Amino acid sequence: MNEQRRLLVVSGPSGAGKDTVVKCLRQAHPEIELSVSATTRPMRPGEAQGVDYYYMTNEQFEEKISRGEMLEHVNYCGKYYGTPKSEVDKRISAGITVVLVIEVIGAANIKRLYPESTLVFIMPPSMDELAARLRGRGTEDEATVQKRLARAKEELQEKDAYDFAIVNDDVSRCAQELYDILVARQSE
Ligand code: ADP
Ligand code: 5GP
Repeated sequence: MNEQRRLLVVSGPSGAGKDTVVKCLRQAHPEIELSVSATTRPMRPGEAQGVDYYYMTNEQFEEKISRGEMLEHVNYCGKYYGTPKSEVDKRISAGITVVLVIEVIGAANIKRLYPESTLVFIMPPSMDELAARLRGRGTEDEATVQKRLARAKEELQEKDAYDFAIVNDDVSRCAQELYDILVARQSE
């Protein structure tokens, strides 16, 4: 099997439930590892350095880019986000399945670098439900929620570029669908 098939890229609008679904997938299948991204956005309550993200300043992030340490990076709603190279290559070579939870531009860049990777788009059941989840999460102020909802409309138009699109109306079912996709891809 091509080792790139061990790379699962999950995208979807903010609030669709990507982190929740991937957490559920990893609880059921702890052998699947998460790629921890770098970001310049502030840490949310309950998050931890090196667990949810590597939080850094603009200067630190830009230094990583200039040293060629980022596989891909974007500016999303005014903050940098990127996948460090160290999160991916060694693991897939060692036979470990790695999940990247990243936005649409980063996902397209990963697909260019790893054409055999599997890209899955997670959709909310509706825009109203997306807004309710985003506000219900309570982690962003209203201005940021508005920015993310505007960005969500653009992101939803990118879903056809993905290998699969699934609807997150139920967390466990959606996590099972992700797992089934992985198993099918890795046994092709
Ligand atoms: P994302 O990672 O896509 O930004 P989160 O995983 O943080 O989204 O989920 C956003 C909010 O929606 C969270 O409060 C989460 O608990 C909730 N949520 C996620 N999936 C569902 C679901 N299937 N039904 C109801 N609420 C959900
Ligand atoms: P959040 O601030 O909600 O954690 O993430 C905002 C958006 O950035 C989400 O769509 C998330 O998937 C995306 N993201 C997180 N890490 C990365 C990354 O390393 N690269 C890219 N391209 N997007 C990322």
